[in-house]
Amino acid sequence: MHCPFCGEADTKVIDSRLVADGDQVRRRRECLSCKERFTTFETAELVMPRVVKQDGTRTPFDEDKLRAGMMKALEKRPVSIEEIEAAINRIKFHLRATGEREVKSLVVGEAVMSELRQLDKVAYVRFASVYRSFQDVNEFKEEIERLSRHGNEAGDAAEVAGALARDKE
Ligand SMILES: [Zn+2]
Repeated sequence: MHCPFCGEADTKVIDSRLVADGDQVRRRRECLSCKERFTTFETAELVMPRVVKQDGTRTPFDEDKLRAGMMKALEKRPVSIEEIEAAINRIKFHLRATGEREVKSLVVGEAVMSELRQLDKVAYVRFASVYRSFQDVNEFKEEIERLSRHGNEAGDAAEVAGALARDKE
């Protein structure tokens, strides 16, 4: 690790500790030449597969974009940031676990839908309506009905329909 002050190649680690629940190593280093001290953070680099869009173009996996999309669907819903972050981590884990260097955007979308379905049914239908761009109201109704058939709680469909009606106002 080159010294950021003088460029010297030789720096000494003077302290090393785990941070961020053990996901990072924080190292305190000292330059052997100019004696300046600095800190580095090391994280295991987990390579995400590239995303292949429907038109065949490839883009790097964009976690910020994924988060923004989920946040939009979860707007004003009773879901904590921790739950959202945990869901994002599961999606990333799922995509890495495919072992593929490229995944179709469809796979990413389905992974998001699967997480949102667990988190919040309103967010799920909101996301699905944009993502699958439901052709008409009937298709939308079918999805809501399907949800209510599989839902654990009574009134899911009514809640979803109500929230979506408010979205449109
Ligand atoms: Zn130096």
